[in-house]
Amino acid sequence: MQMATTHRQGVKKRASWREIFRSRCRDRLKESRHKAINELRSKSENFKNTYIDSCQSLVEDVMYQEWEKIKKEDNKLPSLVLRNTAPIPYTQKQENFDKVEHVLSVLEEMEEELIKEERKLLQSVVDDYFKFDMTSLSAVIERMEGNEIICPVCLRSPLLQNKHIIFCSCGLRLDTEFDGITLDYVKKQIEDAFNMHNKSCFAKPTMSEVKIPTCKSNNLLLTCNECDFLYLVL
Ligand SMILES: [Zn+2]
Ligand SMILES: [Zn+2]
Repeated sequence: MQMATTHRQGVKKRASWREIFRSRCRDRLKESRHKAINELRSKSENFKNTYIDSCQSLVEDVMYQEWEKIKKEDNKLPSLVLRNTAPIPYTQKQENFDKVEHVLSVLEEMEEELIKEERKLLQSVVDDYFKFDMTSLSAVIERMEGNEIICPVCLRSPLLQNKHIIFCSCGLRLDTEFDGITLDYVKKQIEDAFNMHNKSCFAKPTMSEVKIPTCKSNNLLLTCNECDFLYLVL
């Protein structure tokens, strides 16, 4: 009976460091994921693939650092050194072989679990991000072909013209005060503004109708919250 109790306590002890360790690793991965999402917003599209691929070494790094911490807190844990560069990830120094073997198998299993989990989370973050992109202004601009021009404000209805007035069924109404204006010109203006912004920023700008005090009619303005870009389109 005594043996059984001791054994159970031993199991309980191992389970608790395991939970703490796993949850610390998860927190670290979460932080790093948030950082990556921010970078994804501002950097290039290739970044997403590079990041997802680096998932394994990220998990190894985090586990290595967290293991160094937790083994100092819990003196029952073997003083294993987790190597994050060698092809064999774990090496042992001394100590009870069975215990080391047990901890190693727990860690290896956890590493596999965390990599799988992290890869899945990152993939869904990236998928959501690019799904959103399909309804963004950039996607709408790419869809504009020939004479068709979609309203850059509502991103749905076609932009129409009546003499010097450019309008949309969503309520957009721009008086250009100039009869010679064409929808082609408007389209070119929108594309120019958009391209100019995209040279230095990967975030998604938005187009809106604004009233500038010095102008008689409303204007079309391209703005970006990430980089503070501001461009008067019309
Ligand atoms: Zn519209
Ligand atoms: Zn921007």
